[in-house]
Amino acid sequence: MAFQAGETFLNYINGEWTPSLTGEVDSSINPSNKSQIVGYIQRSSREDLDHAAAAAKQASIAWRKLSGAARGEYLYKVANALEKRLDEVAETMTREMGKTFPEAKGETARGVAILRYYAGEGMRKVGDVIPSTDSEALMFTTRVPLGVVGVITPWNFPVAIPIWKIAPALIYGNTVILKPASETAVTAAKIMECFHEASLPAGVINMVVGRGSEIGQGIIEHKGINGITFTGSNETGKRIAMGAIARGAKYQLEMGGKNPVIVAADADLDLAVEATISGGLRSTGQKCTATSRVIVQSAVYETFKQKLVERVKQLKVGDGMDSQTWMGPCASESQQQTVLSYVEKGISEGATLLFGGKVPNGTGDGFYVEPAVFDDVKPEMTIAKEEIFGPVLALIKVDTFEEAIQTANDSEFGLSASIFTRNISNMLTFVNDMEAGLVRVNAESAGVELQAPFGGMKQSSSHSREQGQAAIEFFTSIKTVFVKQ
Ligand code: NAD
Repeated sequence: MAFQAGETFLNYINGEWTPSLTGEVDSSINPSNKSQIVGYIQRSSREDLDHAAAAAKQASIAWRKLSGAARGEYLYKVANALEKRLDEVAETMTREMGKTFPEAKGETARGVAILRYYAGEGMRKVGDVIPSTDSEALMFTTRVPLGVVGVITPWNFPVAIPIWKIAPALIYGNTVILKPASETAVTAAKIMECFHEASLPAGVINMVVGRGSEIGQGIIEHKGINGITFTGSNETGKRIAMGAIARGAKYQLEMGGKNPVIVAADADLDLAVEATISGGLRSTGQKCTATSRVIVQSAVYETFKQKLVERVKQLKVGDGMDSQTWMGPCASESQQQTVLSYVEKGISEGATLLFGGKVPNGTGDGFYVEPAVFDDVKPEMTIAKEEIFGPVLALIKVDTFEEAIQTANDSEFGLSASIFTRNISNMLTFVNDMEAGLVRVNAESAGVELQAPFGGMKQSSSHSREQGQAAIEFFTSIKTVFVKQ
């Protein structure tokens, strides 16, 4: 199937494509060309959510009793369906949120791999035998599903993030209600089509599209939803935490970052430049793990700066479907305006804009911004503190390695961090002292393999981990069993 603009996409409830009871739709537009409507999506109400929650609850009775292997068989089928439609799904993603087609293909392939990984998890151990002091007893732990899980996702990884939440939720026996970001709800509908093709039992997976304040908030408050897994902004994350605590639901939050890269005096500068560009500017800087603070020792600062700016100037900004494009637009007009206002703030607070930060000439139909590099950034400036979520690099000069670590840790966030150095002692100090959930040596700050735990410290995360086997902690409850002969 090829991508086609302008179709209408329905909610997916109880195994059926269902229009919202409101009868209202929103449009999802192409950030490379705002006059193109990628698709029409539902603007649902709490009643639609009630319908999905009832279906998910009913379905969970049989789903939790299936063996993990049987649940895994369904995930293999979804993976195959997604793999077959990889180009179509990736093109939808590029048209809907702007990342380049090769990046979108990479993300979709990642979705396939995550599904297969968790399909296999259905056959792995879920508990331990613990020696009892009573020699006639058997004591062990096992895991039980939470029940119905609400999955609330952002627009920046519209395939990988929903799948890395849905796949573990399902394999461990939960049923799911997905509320995707409206900005990428057409891409989400394409994922649902793959689940539909795999013929999962009705109600095991549902999708309700609507506004955060209506459907997102509805998930927070819904007594029939036992767990909420969320990726998005800190503001929404805090709301979810408070709401979930108030009604005793389990919650998991993955939120923002202000991720540093340290370039030590002995770094391979060419490697550091390439990794800073890739980590900071790929996906138009709209990754939670994107590099945004570049902390460079004074001995190599000028050389690094020149090499970096030279390379950034060469990056071609344009429509993500154009094979010449290195960086696509911002995902929305509000995202573009946010980036531009941070650039202004950087200038007004005294940083020096070395390159970029403007809307490129002749791109009025899209939400483009040139990648920006700031010099003379001080740790107390807004652009060194707040998450921009756009293609803006802030260069911070430090004299010593100790100062570099201190500056890197001077943040309320703690998602990812990188260092470039050839010195093993620097590496180990960084690994030990860096306050971040993902620490990477001689590698860009963005990216982690799907079988490894993913998550942050401080205000970046609620501290439970996604991905890999670590996901079992959130998606199940542990039961301690004691059996006496
Ligand atoms: P957002 O918080 O505005 O939206 C995320 C989701 O929450 C959307 O589905 C939205 O509709 C929903 N939502 C909005 N208001 C809600 C409410 N009152 N109640 C419940 N749900 C509500 O975030 P965004 O702008 O879509 O995404 C960007 C943010 O996501 C950035 O801060 C970024 O760092 C973060 N992010 C984090 C990670 C990570 O893994 N740590 C990954 C990607 C993005």
